[in-house]
Amino acid sequence: MSKSPLLLLSGMLLLSAASQGQEKSTMDFEKYDPVSTLVVPEHIKTRARFPFIDVHNHQWNLGEQNLDELMAAMDKLNMQIMVNLSGGNGSGLKKMTDNIKAHAPKRLVVFANINFSGIGSSGWTDKAVAQLEEDVKQGARGLKIFKNLGLSVNDNTGKRVTIDDPRLDPIWKKCGELKIPVLIHAADPKPFWDTPDEHNERWLEITTHPGRKRGPKNPVPWEQIIAEEHRMFKKHPQTTFINAHFGWYANDLGQLSRLMNEMPNMYVEFGAVIAELGRQPIMARQFFEKYQDRILFGKDSWVPDEYATYFRELETADEYFPYHKKYHAFWRMYGMNLPDNILKKIYYKNALKIIPGLDKTMFPE
Ligand SMILES: [Zn+2]
Repeated sequence: MSKSPLLLLSGMLLLSAASQGQEKSTMDFEKYDPVSTLVVPEHIKTRARFPFIDVHNHQWNLGEQNLDELMAAMDKLNMQIMVNLSGGNGSGLKKMTDNIKAHAPKRLVVFANINFSGIGSSGWTDKAVAQLEEDVKQGARGLKIFKNLGLSVNDNTGKRVTIDDPRLDPIWKKCGELKIPVLIHAADPKPFWDTPDEHNERWLEITTHPGRKRGPKNPVPWEQIIAEEHRMFKKHPQTTFINAHFGWYANDLGQLSRLMNEMPNMYVEFGAVIAELGRQPIMARQFFEKYQDRILFGKDSWVPDEYATYFRELETADEYFPYHKKYHAFWRMYGMNLPDNILKKIYYKNALKIIPGLDKTMFPE
């Protein structure tokens, strides 16, 4: 892989004025943001072409929130259903599902979360499974596992709990029996584990968010956590898993293809990795064509204005357009121009297939 000259300059850009005999001046990489002189057709998409389901969203206060305001914001984007992955469990979750039943029964969905504290103590697994069953009775439509599993969840002896820990097996099995999907975010982008120097594509993110820095002993190598996750998927073929953020392989779709082939129970969503697709629109489109039945729309952070970048990437053939966070991507993007039949699957058909209890009549054929 060839390295961009931009990267080789260690986050600092040298602007040479040597030809005019002037002294060299420097500029911060963060500051350098030239206005593109390229003139090409532009199709700004503030609204999706079809109604869509965002399977990766976080609303922390859904129990108290005014849902009319939220639905109005969703309507502007053509978001028909939002999946709130931060459902919690027990009474907190019930508050959310009660509010939804009363004010937005068809537009909002909640996934439950597991409380890992005390894992290892006797009866922990049975209790967690019973709580999940209760949460599903209260209206949860799936289970979300946060990245703390694999990174920071320890058992009652202080030992890191691996994603494929056998004490968790009954939970994954129960999700299969209940026919609810498990959306899981494991580890973080691989560059967080690499040396944060001028060769690291996420140098800016690690520098501006030092807490995201990882290493082979913090807590273990990236590959190890990812392997635990894949072993767990394979051990539970009757359970449907949604691997968040393309499983952190959006920058290596060849490898992701092999994983998709090995694990037919694994779906993927592209929250926060859309810029990876935008820098390889040809390869990405081939991937979407091949795995069109197992890709879901996800965004993660609820910043309504940022959805336009996602719609533009999926729907248009626009060239060299900007992404909205330089610390995710200092490059520009190219649209995949997906055909309508694939767009419909990504926007809603695939989610309708694997998340129970959604009203299909709200979507076109
Ligand atoms: Zn998330």
